[in-house]
Amino acid sequence: MKAIETRDLLADLMSSREYSLVTEKRWDDARKEIETLEKLSEKQSPMRAYTAFDDSFECPSCGENTEAYDVTVLKFCPECGQKLKWN
Ligand SMILES: [Zn+2]
Repeated sequence: MKAIETRDLLADLMSSREYSLVTEKRWDDARKEIETLEKLSEKQSPMRAYTAFDDSFECPSCGENTEAYDVTVLKFCPECGQKLKWN
């Protein structure tokens, strides 16, 4: 199941009548889970990355500088998991 589907399912569940049976603690846990899933979903939308010499780039999401022989082959930031697109 994709993260966004899981998030929607959880949101549906929590807005349903069953929510009244869920304790506050579990509600908080589920809300944190949704926030995490939303952050992960955002990282699935590719962000354009730039590099001057192919051997390093600064992540447009987390700002981490990554060096490799050819960073343009990277599909995701190795630091934060942000999906990347080049040129
Ligand atoms: Zn990053």
